[in-house]
Amino acid sequence: MVEIKLHNTRTRKKEVFTPIDASNVRMYVCGPTVYDRAHLGNARPVVVFDVLNRLLRHVYGEDHVTYVRNFTDVDDKIIARAEESGREIGQITSETTQWFLDDMAALGAREPDHMPRATQYIPQMVLMIEELIAGGHAYAAEGHVLFAVESYSKYGALSGRTVKDMIAGSRVEVAPYKRNPMDFVLWKPSTGDQPGWDSPWGYGRPGWHIECSAMAYELLGESFDIHGGGNDLMFPHHENEIAQSCCAHPHGDFARYWMHNEMLQVEGRKMSKSLGNFFTVRDLLDQGVPGEVIRFVFLSTHYRKPMDWTEKKAEQARKLLKRWAIVPKEAGKVPREVVGALANDLNTPQVITELHRLEALGEFGALSASLKFLGIDLSRVGEWGLGWGLSSPWDSLIGFKIAERNRARIEKNFKQADEIRNGLAVAGVLLMDGPMGTDWELTPEFDPKKLESLK
Ligand code: AMP
Ligand code: ZN
Repeated sequence: MVEIKLHNTRTRKKEVFTPIDASNVRMYVCGPTVYDRAHLGNARPVVVFDVLNRLLRHVYGEDHVTYVRNFTDVDDKIIARAEESGREIGQITSETTQWFLDDMAALGAREPDHMPRATQYIPQMVLMIEELIAGGHAYAAEGHVLFAVESYSKYGALSGRTVKDMIAGSRVEVAPYKRNPMDFVLWKPSTGDQPGWDSPWGYGRPGWHIECSAMAYELLGESFDIHGGGNDLMFPHHENEIAQSCCAHPHGDFARYWMHNEMLQVEGRKMSKSLGNFFTVRDLLDQGVPGEVIRFVFLSTHYRKPMDWTEKKAEQARKLLKRWAIVPKEAGKVPREVVGALANDLNTPQVITELHRLEALGEFGALSASLKFLGIDLSRVGEWGLGWGLSSPWDSLIGFKIAERNRARIEKNFKQADEIRNGLAVAGVLLMDGPMGTDWELTPEFDPKKLESLK
């Protein structure tokens, strides 16, 4: 069996992954709060954990993995959106949930096995809160229930902080009913149009964190293998999930491997509405950027590194995938090197290097099988057209020369590799080597006749 290694945020080390039960590998990933279209950053954890899901299924078997990703459909941002728009909460959340599923499907993400919605798990949350109170880990005050962080000595261990540091370093909401300013809400009162449920503490609704603890317990049990999300969730959300779950179920481990993806930026800057560089996945798809291109650009950066979305990368990916779409159709298997690179803490940039190697060696069956395994479906490339990220009629000849040069490089025939590069340069085609492979540009001296003569 292939050995998988994953970087565990909890231990800050890359560790060999050993599932609790190899016949049912279990993973939970925090999903979106549904009140608006997913922005491009929201798609990053979806793609990262989709790749991990595919790897786990490849290694342990299609039916031996349970992947859960939730929808947060009760939240103050949703309530605010309903008030602004005059629409029903249920309408907003169901519409947004469907948008999310459609947009993520366009990026080639498979649906998780379970997609629990918070509002469907209120009784389980109430039960867990009761257990926390009974165990001395939570207290009711003024219609609220709060988790007492001082009752859990390991609070802060995931992100490596102490309660004192956290008070100093974060904007904690001070409230008269809190014993410690770091105590966080498990349940709060609802009034008027706010969504609410009857509970032992009055009519109200859950705080954000308890839903993941309750749903993970219900669907995956008190100990499971992998918990994932963006690294912005590490504190406070994941610290709070751990505190709730480990105190309510002291015999379980909750999650053993914690994985966090780094954030996405746009053209080198944080994506934000005020910088005017904020856009949704749907915006890109509507502009004609294929989902396969978006996915490939994501894969070109390792998940633990900040990922910079640039139009240039999207253009490069489009050119490359168009070239790979026309390689001869042959049956093939995903080679060991590709699985090995993924098994090494999801080293997707290394996988891309391997794909170039397969192309250069003419192993087209293996190349196609690997693309499919990565969730990149090139069957619709014919519909992409030229459009955004214009490609030239010289695409395939230049692509052929690049593959020929890659082959020469693999064979350490650097003289021939240089000759190919120089021949293209003389024809006015400039090669540039980068993380997505070799890109090219036509210079003002471009001469199609000279290019043709290289055939
Ligand atoms: P939210 O709906 O804000 O709770 O976010 C849903 C998911 O998107 C979480 O896993 C976040 O960590 C992730 N996320 C939000 N913004 C970004 C970003 N800029 N880059 C990568 N992931 C993000
Ligand atoms: Zn969560």
